[in-house]
Amino acid sequence: MLEVLSRIRVVLVGTTHPGNIGSAARAMKTMGLSDLVLVDPKQFPAADATALAAGADDLLARARVVPSLEEAIDDCVWVTGTSARQRGHSVPPLAPEPAARGLLDHARQGTVALVFGRESSGLTNEELDHCNALVQIPTNPGFSSLNLAAAVQVMAYTCRATALSLVDKPIPAYDPDPPATQAELDAMFDHLQRALVAIEFLDPEKPRHLMRRLRHLYLRVGLTRSEVAILRGILTHAERGGGRPRA
Ligand code: SAH
Repeated sequence: MLEVLSRIRVVLVGTTHPGNIGSAARAMKTMGLSDLVLVDPKQFPAADATALAAGADDLLARARVVPSLEEAIDDCVWVTGTSARQRGHSVPPLAPEPAARGLLDHARQGTVALVFGRESSGLTNEELDHCNALVQIPTNPGFSSLNLAAAVQVMAYTCRATALSLVDKPIPAYDPDPPATQAELDAMFDHLQRALVAIEFLDPEKPRHLMRRLRHLYLRVGLTRSEVAILRGILTHAERGGGRPRA
């Protein structure tokens, strides 16, 4: 059951202080996580990162650096974002334990991601829009923001503790239909937007929050690949003007 931890990718977005990258790598390695992806870090590689990794420099050496969150999570079947506070249009955040259970559950079928934000400003709304679930570590409401690496430590520990609690428990059978990846979902959302414009349900001049609300709806469910194919089939049919499908 603990091998599943190697399928939990930690994504650090826009990290300013390289020391935090090193401390995050150390936090991960102590808990058996190893897949680190850095989105547009301010400075990396860096001596401070290596110093604070304190022996977890193998994780730093293997860390992938990419320009955008989309690239970091393209192949993932479930993405959980972290947030120190509840945002306006986002889904309600989960506590760490249920969030870890969701990650471990989906990790049986592919790579999953835990996404952490910038030290100064966290994750943008657009970045949160890529997340299937959100997690908020309960803290003092008057002082809620943890240091980035401390947040990585809490979540990595919670994932390990949850995985340990599942050892020897029978593994429930899972649906043989594989979950859709983020890249497949993004293609579906583009298709949905085109179709909604084509059938004049969505006015591109006044989009309001329709696409964001629909993203959240579909992401929450965790669609499978064949469900995405069905939904795209419906969209194609609607784009052609509807009518009875040819037998
Ligand atoms: N001012 C920022 C704080 C960012 S702290 C904000 O309000 O969003 C840097 C990162 O650490 C956050 O983006 C998040 O990934 C993580 N983090 C800090 N405190 C957290 C908490 N209580 N729960 C979940 N993640 C937290």
